Amino acid sequence: MMQSEHERRAYLRAMGIDLWIPRDQVDAEPVRSEPAAEADAAGYDWDELRAAVTGCTRCPLHESRTQTVFGVGSPVANWMIIGEAPGAEEDRRGEPFVGRAGKLLDEMLLAIGEQRDSVFIANILKCRPPNNRDPSPGEAASCRPYLERQIELVQPKIILAVGRIAAQQLLQSDAPVGRLRGRVHRLGAIPLVVTYHPAYLLRSPSQKRKSWDDLCLAAGVMAGAAA
Ligand code: URA
Repeated sequence: MMQSEHERRAYLRAMGIDLWIPRDQVDAEPVRSEPAAEADAAGYDWDELRAAVTGCTRCPLHESRTQTVFGVGSPVANWMIIGEAPGAEEDRRGEPFVGRAGKLLDEMLLAIGEQRDSVFIANILKCRPPNNRDPSPGEAASCRPYLERQIELVQPKIILAVGRIAAQQLLQSDAPVGRLRGRVHRLGAIPLVVTYHPAYLLRSPSQKRKSWDDLCLAAGVMAGAAA
């Protein structure tokens, strides 16, 4: 995928790499004065992390968002659900998965005995990409330290990645969901199961059966971890 210069810079910054920008290009994008070490969220507590996300300007999406969408749920959840990015409704309300897909996600959670406030729900991106386009690699890289810190703070026993973008970003893979689902991956020490995005399931209800199998797989891992 082609990266714009703006995205490339955001990506490098998120990786903690200092940028040298020729003087005649400085007007094109303000050079941030923060040291590279501030490009991650390591060591932040919940309040610091929330404040950093709320004020984030690391990528161009801050210009078009209504508000950031931090994530919701229990800070000590066993289950962490990770989706793609806020949509229009989420951008308006500041909460992930509140549209039609969110209702289906709630039902999927109920089916495994969980609720929105017993799990932690987050996204790869904290800001809505315009017109619901896919997150760019630079945007995902800019946002990644926030998600990584959320995972560290929650310390979930299982991660459920819903949809292609979440699965590919978390596993750093370009394989389709159909190839990533149906088995247990690991994100560091944390088991991770991939399933279809609820928005896709709304369009393709015949895939709900496979998604149920994925939920059962994850619930089995969870039960094993709790035993
Ligand atoms: N889709 C997602 O992946 N995340 C949301 O928060 C809403 C829709």
